[in-house]
Amino acid sequence: MPQTDKEYDVIIIGGGPAGLAAALYTARDRYSTLILEKNGLPGGQIMLTEHVENYPGYQKISGFDLIEQMKTQVAGFGAETATSQAADGIRRRDDGMLEVDVNGAEHTYVARSVIVSPGSDYRNLGIPGETEMRQATRVSYCATCDGAFYRGKHVLVIGGGNTAAEDTVYLATRFTDKITMIHRRTEFRAEKVLVEELYAAVDEHNIDIRLPYVPVEIVASEDGSDIDHVKIRNVETDAVEELCVDGVFVFVGMNPNTAWLKDVLDIDEGGYIQADPLTMKTSLPGVFAAGDCRCQAAMQLATATADGVVAAMQLREYFRDPSSWSVDTCDQSGQGW
Ligand SMILES: Cc1cc2nc3c(=O)[nH]c(=O)nc-3n(C[C@H](O)[C@H](O)[C@H](O)COP(=O)(O)OP(=O)(O)OC[C@H]3O[C@@H](n4cnc5c(N)ncnc54)[C@H](O)[C@@H]3O)c2cc1C
Repeated sequence: MPQTDKEYDVIIIGGGPAGLAAALYTARDRYSTLILEKNGLPGGQIMLTEHVENYPGYQKISGFDLIEQMKTQVAGFGAETATSQAADGIRRRDDGMLEVDVNGAEHTYVARSVIVSPGSDYRNLGIPGETEMRQATRVSYCATCDGAFYRGKHVLVIGGGNTAAEDTVYLATRFTDKITMIHRRTEFRAEKVLVEELYAAVDEHNIDIRLPYVPVEIVASEDGSDIDHVKIRNVETDAVEELCVDGVFVFVGMNPNTAWLKDVLDIDEGGYIQADPLTMKTSLPGVFAAGDCRCQAAMQLATATADGVVAAMQLREYFRDPSSWSVDTCDQSGQGW
């Protein structure tokens, strides 16, 4: 546990790729650096994927291995990391220092500047039965975490973006006997190359793609331990069908982890932090935002790490002249991509 009475040069909130990249630069600049991570393990979303093929310098690497290398590199320059520390408040003291509360003000950490990089969380369907069947571990939001439980089973995949396309292929080629995949539109939102890979796997791996369908209800078995069936509705005809599946994978997007910042920073309608896209500066001087939490983020590893680097370099300017803070925030709401 880091000292709560120590005053750091910079506190980084979130130990994902953006936070780790920022820490690499600040620690290497000899600024005392503390990373606060709410989970037991830093690493962020990329830990959930086995194959990263689009991070420059790596032909193919698992998210876990890539993060291990980032963590080792950052620790080598002296950055401290505190896990199970969920930041829930930031405020400026009269002397200009910034205070960061964690875990309901269980601890307060102090720094000259803060880089906020809390990323995003899974979005829910919000239909009856989802919460109960999530607790019964029959509804999942992470193929890498839970795919192995569905060896030889029939699962329903819901979603039409990159994660839905990529993870359907991942599940079908490794574990499942059959996948029914539904999406609310007549076309997928996913990148063309991922959609092509999905359709290429349909016959060999027993994937039934149904468009445009939405889920209506997840109905539990009598004892509540399994899914009995899922009701799905054809958006064009309104007809409701019952689908007998063993599990449901939900890939319908992310929510930025910024609710706790709504009274601290300017946040847009989608929950993304309004930060200057060239400098990562937010509406509160001394506080930068980096990665998937900020407006117009491209939601990629390379861009998240780039944001962290930009924030860390701008921090030098801020320390040189704190009064020079000025911000051009994103001029549109929501995610820019
Ligand atoms: C399944 C999957 C596959 C992907 N594959 C690729 C890929 O192949 N290539 C690619 O470029 N991108 C990929 N991505 C996207 C990539 O993972 C993200 O763009 C990237 O991780 C964003 O980094 P980040 O640091 O902004 O946020 P995150 O990775 O979300 O990290 C944020 C961190 O902050 C922590 N945190 C949140 N709130 C708090 C708080 N209040 N206090 C303290 N800590 C907090 C979280 O626990 C987390 O560790 C994939 C994403 C997923 C989900």
